[in-house]
Amino acid sequence: MFSNYYRKKLDELLAACRNNLSSRKVNENLVSNAFRFALEAHKNDKRASGEPYISHPYEVSMIVAKEIPLDDISVAAALLHDVVEDTKFTINDIKAEFGDEVAEIVDGATQIEGIFENYELKQVESYKKMILSMTSDIRVMLIKFADRLHNLRTLEFLSDSRQLRMAQETLEIYAPLAHRFGLSNVKTELEDLSFKYLDKKAYDEIANKLKEKKRERDKFIKKFVEPIKDALNEGNYKFELSGRAKHIYSIYRKIKTRDKTFDEIYDLFAVRIILDTDNKYDCFAVYGICSQIYIPIPERFKNYISLPKQNGYQSIHTTLMSKEGKLVEVQIRTREMHEIAEKGIAAHWKYKENVHLNDKKIEDWMKSIRDTFENASRDDITSKQLIESFKLNLFQDEIYCFTPKGELKILPSGATPLDFAFEIHTEVGMRCIGAKVNGRIVTLDTPLKSGNQVEIITSKNSKPKRDWEKFVVTHKAKSDIRKYFNSERRELIAKGKEIFDKKVKKQKIHFDEDDFNKVLHKIKFKSSQDFFCESGRDENKIDLVIKLLLDRNKIPQIDSAQETILAENIEAETEVTFDKYVKDARAATTGIFIGNGATEKEMDGIKYDFAQCCNPIPGDDVIGFITQTEGIKIHRKNCKNIVNLFLIDPQRVVEINWGDSSAGEFTGGIKIIGEDKPGILNEITKTISKSFKINIKSLNINSKGNMFEGTLILAVENLKQLNAIIDKINAQSGIFIAERFNG
Ligand code: MN
Repeated sequence: MFSNYYRKKLDELLAACRNNLSSRKVNENLVSNAFRFALEAHKNDKRASGEPYISHPYEVSMIVAKEIPLDDISVAAALLHDVVEDTKFTINDIKAEFGDEVAEIVDGATQIEGIFENYELKQVESYKKMILSMTSDIRVMLIKFADRLHNLRTLEFLSDSRQLRMAQETLEIYAPLAHRFGLSNVKTELEDLSFKYLDKKAYDEIANKLKEKKRERDKFIKKFVEPIKDALNEGNYKFELSGRAKHIYSIYRKIKTRDKTFDEIYDLFAVRIILDTDNKYDCFAVYGICSQIYIPIPERFKNYISLPKQNGYQSIHTTLMSKEGKLVEVQIRTREMHEIAEKGIAAHWKYKENVHLNDKKIEDWMKSIRDTFENASRDDITSKQLIESFKLNLFQDEIYCFTPKGELKILPSGATPLDFAFEIHTEVGMRCIGAKVNGRIVTLDTPLKSGNQVEIITSKNSKPKRDWEKFVVTHKAKSDIRKYFNSERRELIAKGKEIFDKKVKKQKIHFDEDDFNKVLHKIKFKSSQDFFCESGRDENKIDLVIKLLLDRNKIPQIDSAQETILAENIEAETEVTFDKYVKDARAATTGIFIGNGATEKEMDGIKYDFAQCCNPIPGDDVIGFITQTEGIKIHRKNCKNIVNLFLIDPQRVVEINWGDSSAGEFTGGIKIIGEDKPGILNEITKTISKSFKINIKSLNINSKGNMFEGTLILAVENLKQLNAIIDKINAQSGIFIAERFNG
């Protein structure tokens, strides 16, 4: 299948898996298949170094297997981690080939990668939280750490600017996160490598001095540990003893934060004694031996064996004074304690770390992971339970989104683009008409996800909509919207009342409050405030109320059924009383059916025509009005002019029905609001002419910033067809609203 070279590489990887992955039996088929898949997917790609691209995912999987060993799934996902981002294969291909679990991890790693590509690195703490909020499975993070580590190891091949950016990102985001996850070795290497690229001069200076002093340091350590070694051998202990300098970046940080010179701190190092024993009390005995040889500093004694750190870290720490008066830190622990500290997921938690990183949530979670692992070996826990414990649930009550300029906004989970708009500015929220998430138009109530880039589309004349209150979640959006509607209502009430008062005065109507309330009640207003508010928006109801008030004073009073009709008509609801009422009017014009006589526009000898204010089409609820000279004008029942027609003379309004075979050409208008992008009009007209084979009479478009508003006049057959066309347009991407045009 592939060359000997890759055969050998795969064997090495499988061997690393067998030697290091302990949590479950290694599925070698899975790892081999992932290797084969990655090799094929990346076959045409090269790294910046000129090597075949596969060398990168391969090395990343090696790091996962050797340095952060967890399970075979993470090794497989490591091999595949760049496939979706860099090759033609999709996440669905991975899912089909390797199942949901591997696919989810690859997907998570791909998403996190995308975050850093486009944005400035500000608000470092927020970035850390954002990454954690996007990570539902701990293995995503492990792969990101391994990926980062290999990229830094091979950073020399990238341009200077990319080197700096990646080094900074690593130092500020990934290294502290690696530390939180207890990966002390990974963190140390990430720090030193980043530092090397961020401040080459300082790095070289410290590295050179360390080298210069190495002989001196080694000599000192050798002399210091000699009597300890002898005593331990005498006591028949099996042990490993090492003394190592601090890593370069931590020396640099000490120079900076403690304001010391290199010579004052170069020899700061820890001597570590690892005992090959199952008996933890041996550690105390060894401490006793050491403190007989050198004087211990009592306040520096730490017993993390009886009182482990929250993540389970165990060791004895003590500081001893050498014969020359130099202070040396000594750590004493068993082999098992050491393994956990170096490689265990939860190990080295907070070990000598600044206090501000103490996040209770992570600690608790770390503890639960540790418990699971410990129980896994003891109680033979199922792998499903083990997998559950990989699920990270941190910071998922917050989401982190960007503006197109890369500004980060933190929102509660469930927040929508509209919340985002109000978060930017009240005015942006108020004028919001649409939104793009990661470049795609979405509805305003779509829940956002961490890492989304959100672009808000505004229109100068747009105003908040009533239903907004129902789906926004942030306090700011809610209160801004409420404030707007309250003040709008106040203004409308004032305006409505002013118009009403003026008209009442002009008509010289007298009525008491009781009359007024009765009339309002009859036309279904709950309060005079509601009536004035609506009147502020639309004066039509004022005339209706005035007429009703006037009629009250007439004798005979207006028939109550008729009042209802007037009111109901506005709601475009037909009731039985309506029919009763029009009976008289219909006596003269019985049997008006609008049918296929469209060309003649005459029916039973009576002329008719369609009102241009509302352009009725077959299927609409319609009504006729007997005009003085033009026969019957046919209106839609919800045409706003109907009220006025009633006011002129209710007797001239007649019921009209469409005949069964209504045919011909009718005028249908559609109002469209959408995103102003090239080709969108073309798409609309294509959609219509292709799907419906009808004539477009006119098309009128106005661009406003990012959007357009247009009216489309069509020759249609009936309402059903018009509605189908509207649905089709609405389904098209880039369209915010398409609706029947009523003006
Ligand atoms: Mn990668």
